[in-house]
Amino acid sequence: MAMPELPEVETISKQLAPLVEGRRLQRMEILDPRWSHPLAPRELADALVGRRIERLGRRGKYLLWSFEHDVHLAQHLRMTGGVLWRPSAKHGEADPPFTRVRLELGPAPRRSRAAESANAGSNGAVRLAIVDARRFGTGQLLLGRGALDAFLAARLGLEPLDERFTAEHLFELARGRTAPVKAFLLDQRRVAGVGNIYADEALFRARIHPRRPAGRLDRRQFAALRDGVIEALRAGIDARGATIDDFRDIDGASGAFQNQFLVHRREGEPCPRCGSTISKMVVGGRASYVCETCQPPPRKRRRR
Ligand code: ZN
Repeated sequence: MAMPELPEVETISKQLAPLVEGRRLQRMEILDPRWSHPLAPRELADALVGRRIERLGRRGKYLLWSFEHDVHLAQHLRMTGGVLWRPSAKHGEADPPFTRVRLELGPAPRRSRAAESANAGSNGAVRLAIVDARRFGTGQLLLGRGALDAFLAARLGLEPLDERFTAEHLFELARGRTAPVKAFLLDQRRVAGVGNIYADEALFRARIHPRRPAGRLDRRQFAALRDGVIEALRAGIDARGATIDDFRDIDGASGAFQNQFLVHRREGEPCPRCGSTISKMVVGGRASYVCETCQPPPRKRRRR
């Protein structure tokens, strides 16, 4: 099972933001109390309904809905979550499969980006469905910018597309760490938004074996790793995400990045750089795809 990572959440955020910003949330029906936990569905809906959506954005793998009067919703898609834009859905029409939350938004404000967008479908009231086959996704209410910042700071490290994401910063974060560099990349409290797909792709681009201890890489390797992470994520965003099992954009379309993987899920195929066979191994508990010619394994220490 592949979970939405930074490029997939970014795809949803970029598509949805111009369509929803400026609209008012008119109805919110949370059909599954696990989504709003620890708040009851009614409590969460009452805090949001009637408010205008000021901004939709992303941080790490979170989709961030910012409402007027400094009220925020941090939505995590987890394994199979998605948001479907349903501009032409009629009242009483059947929900898409696996709907967990129904949203109804008021008309788009005049001269908004939504009103100019051909994709908007309707400038009147519109419907959205938050869908999730595996039901691990969540929506967390945060009252005030301070609460939002504290929530994110406790869970997320550097944003890889931020200019502060530098080789030097990675070097400092990894100092003294003996965990494999892949586990280091997957730790959201260090680097936000990178999951199994983009970690494999980034390490291949950087020519670093996923088992190498993070703290033993040199500055040149951290520079290559930084570039590899950014290039892999940008390629994913350009392809509108990767769809292996479930990921869909807001119109229900699949991403295309799975067709451009360099090593991920390409066990037994030739390396696109050197032609050696790509192998599959478990690193940090996760299936990992590696060209061990381009990404030489760490030398085993001699036993004394
Ligand atoms: Zn190779």
